[in-house]
Amino acid sequence: MIKTDSVFKTTEKLETSLKQEFIKALKNEDFQKVISDLDLREDVLMKYTTRLQDCSNEKHNCLNCKGLFECKNAVIGFCLTPFKNNNTINFSYVGCHYTKKEEYKDNVVLFDVSKEIKNATLSDVYKKDKNRVEILKKINSYYHNYFTDNRDKGIYLYGSFGTGKTYLLSALLNEFAKKGVKSTVIHVPELLRNLKESFDSDYRERFATLKTTPILLLDDIGAEYLTVWGRDEVLEPLLHHRMNENLPTFFTSNLSLEELEKHFTISKTSIDMINARRVIERIKKLSEPVELTSKNIRE
Ligand code: ADP
Ligand code: MG
Repeated sequence: MIKTDSVFKTTEKLETSLKQEFIKALKNEDFQKVISDLDLREDVLMKYTTRLQDCSNEKHNCLNCKGLFECKNAVIGFCLTPFKNNNTINFSYVGCHYTKKEEYKDNVVLFDVSKEIKNATLSDVYKKDKNRVEILKKINSYYHNYFTDNRDKGIYLYGSFGTGKTYLLSALLNEFAKKGVKSTVIHVPELLRNLKESFDSDYRERFATLKTTPILLLDDIGAEYLTVWGRDEVLEPLLHHRMNENLPTFFTSNLSLEELEKHFTISKTSIDMINARRVIERIKKLSEPVELTSKNIRE
């Protein structure tokens, strides 16, 4: 009997302190807003006061926030949010609008290329330069026809260093990313350099990604140190596969296709010349060459 009485008292004490805490929290307008949206009874809400205060604090932080760089919340880019679940509350981290705005960027996978190309957009491309008219037309046509049965070939964009080739094609991939189309960009010299070292499971996985990615950009092809093996066991099968599967493939290079063929001809034996020509033929099947002769933007 005495025991029951003490349990009862403890419960009563706990309820009083929960209530006091809740009443104190209610003085805050953000808290009031959070609980009114939940539409639950007070005795239910009271059990979650601390957690609900965390939610209202995080929501408050989001009010005048200018971007992810100044996010004050526990998980950057997310706001702890309560959800009514019958007579209880579930909590989850919901991405803020800045996070959502950036989410499309995950659709472009980068291997060994600068992350700054994630910010490339077609609306930022300098359009007055007449040397860019042709490539911009091609890019535009490619983008619109991609969603029809009449897809264009990919683009082999070549020209001197620093003219914005990587930027332009990345901007196109970013536009696709916004539509949910996934793509991969890989720096070819790095691809072949790593390959020499090992053909381990990571590499196999990466190679499989390159084979199957919906859109592939092979960046800076021709700048690599090329071995017969890299040419015949990596590039050729990769391009052959993408050609057979009709998978869009883009290239940037400092070399024209004629120069690239010379670069691919390693030992100048006849078999070597045939193999070099074979890779070039694959590139030609997959893409149309466009030269970019703008001035160097890097200077
Ligand atoms: P390339 O691939 O021809 O060597 P990049 O695409 O790397 O040249 O461009 C050179 C530099 O200029 C990069 O730092 C890139 O971010 C920048 N750049 C290129 N085009 C633009 C553009 N339209 N707007 C802003 N920056 C650009
Ligand atoms: Mg480049």
